[in-house]
Amino acid sequence: MFRQLRSGDVTGRGPSVTSAKTRAVTPRTSTADRVVQSVCPYCAVGCGQRVFVKDEKVVQIEGDPDSPISRGRLCPKGAASEQLVNAAGRVTEVLYRAPKAKDWQKLDLSTALDMIAERFIEARRNHWEDADEEGRPLRRTMGIASLGGATIDNEENYLAKKLFTAAGAIQIENQARI
Ligand code: SF4
Repeated sequence: MFRQLRSGDVTGRGPSVTSAKTRAVTPRTSTADRVVQSVCPYCAVGCGQRVFVKDEKVVQIEGDPDSPISRGRLCPKGAASEQLVNAAGRVTEVLYRAPKAKDWQKLDLSTALDMIAERFIEARRNHWEDADEEGRPLRRTMGIASLGGATIDNEENYLAKKLFTAAGAIQIENQARI
């Protein structure tokens, strides 16, 4: 009561009840070296994020008020993105398990991308259908298909659809539509 009167903290929820420990705490957002705008990786809503970086390490992620999509808001999942970035168990290398192999092996990213591209081209070529039995043009392949996940946003879906359609695939789907 005395502290309330002295500090003018009428409701008793301000400085009169703040511990020394709480007073010594500083928000991570105020000590960051810089703030980077980003997009939440979890779902196709694509909420805007502000990523706070200190000593080249992500220390906090908040909603971005400048985002026309989310206007500063993040759902609980998006608000926990910092845990995704800094999780001790986060896999940061490409792992490949060859057919019939028991163990995974590490690959560098460019090798993995080359392997995917080679398989894509080979499957397209091996299953190309130029025309049906009556000679009507098909110009398609049933050897490749695309199934997008719900984390893929509009722009990525647009590019995936464009790539696969241009390659002759007709089986192009997204998890959100199934
Ligand atoms: S997971 Fe939540 S915060 Fe992230 S984009 Fe989706 S709705 Fe937004």
